[in-house]
Amino acid sequence: MKTSPDFWNQPLSAPWKQVPLVRDARGVEWEQGAINRNPLKVRERLERAVDHWVDRAREIPHLSKLGAPLPKPKVLYDLKGGIAGMAATMVRPRALPEQWIRIHPDLLARYPVRMIQQTIPHEIAHLVIDWYLPKVREPHGPEWMGVMIWFGRPPLAFHDMEAAPSVRGRAKAAGAPLLFEAPHGRR
Ligand SMILES: [Zn+2]
Repeated sequence: MKTSPDFWNQPLSAPWKQVPLVRDARGVEWEQGAINRNPLKVRERLERAVDHWVDRAREIPHLSKLGAPLPKPKVLYDLKGGIAGMAATMVRPRALPEQWIRIHPDLLARYPVRMIQQTIPHEIAHLVIDWYLPKVREPHGPEWMGVMIWFGRPPLAFHDMEAAPSVRGRAKAAGAPLLFEAPHGRR
């Protein structure tokens, strides 16, 4: 019996919570089917999602008229700990800002649907605000929420993925929920 929607054929804008979660022999949580996926193909799909949401962002009325078209960010797979993704904008003198998205590769392997269908639009929405409204200070404030609603995604600041047990222990000890990202490194 097939219980999980076909990952590769789902639209990039599909909801992410319909994918059942399973545990392996060591008690580590995975989205069903994720353990057998080719990580390079998962990254290709993630980068297609980046293009998809950048294109949607360029269509936001009014906002998209406030500056040059939102560029496609670079994607780095270098995060560790309980952080799923992080958006960064570097302001450069006499040039347009440079933008990138950093992704937690282990969380991407275990939760590809959540990462691609929720974390990516979440992070792109940060890049949208950094690009068009750089004076906004509140990372998950009304402007960011407005972009998420335009994307048709729930404007959630927290994710429901389990970090590695060591990280989870530290976060729990500190009483901290797992954030999508560290506090924003806006410059
Ligand atoms: Zn965020």
